Amino acid sequence: MAYDTDNIFAKILRGEIPCDKVFENDYALAFRDINPQAPVHLLVIPKGPYEALDDFTEKATDAEIEGFFRAVGTVAREAGAVDAGYRFLANCGPDAHQEVSHFHVHIFAGRDLGGMIKRPD
Ligand code: AMP
Repeated sequence: MAYDTDNIFAKILRGEIPCDKVFENDYALAFRDINPQAPVHLLVIPKGPYEALDDFTEKATDAEIEGFFRAVGTVAREAGAVDAGYRFLANCGPDAHQEVSHFHVHIFAGRDLGGMIKRPD
């Protein structure tokens, strides 16, 4: 499927809508989630047009992949989340309920985050 250039994170990257930015470099932008699920809830997105981890790891350059994942670590560190711990998570595709079709990593911190995944009823 072709990358949707009208997705909301693409608009944030183009500066068409604002975000609460916490970090930016050549490869990544990080900002606060608009609907936080934890005291710290940040999103880190690559600057290139990738829909999910699959096309990111298939098509991005080594520099983009390294720059992005180093940025994820930096953002968690700068948020003060390392000592108490944090979760980073990427929803990819329909079964994971990915809402925004631009690859992004969530960083959750600031409280006990509970179990890893919802179990079937
Ligand atoms: P996902 O289900 O992994 O695609 O999560 C998308 C996330 O983007 C959700 O946690 C939303 O709250 C968040 N979100 C959607 N629009 C915005 C926005 N304009 N600024 C910040 N976060 C957003």
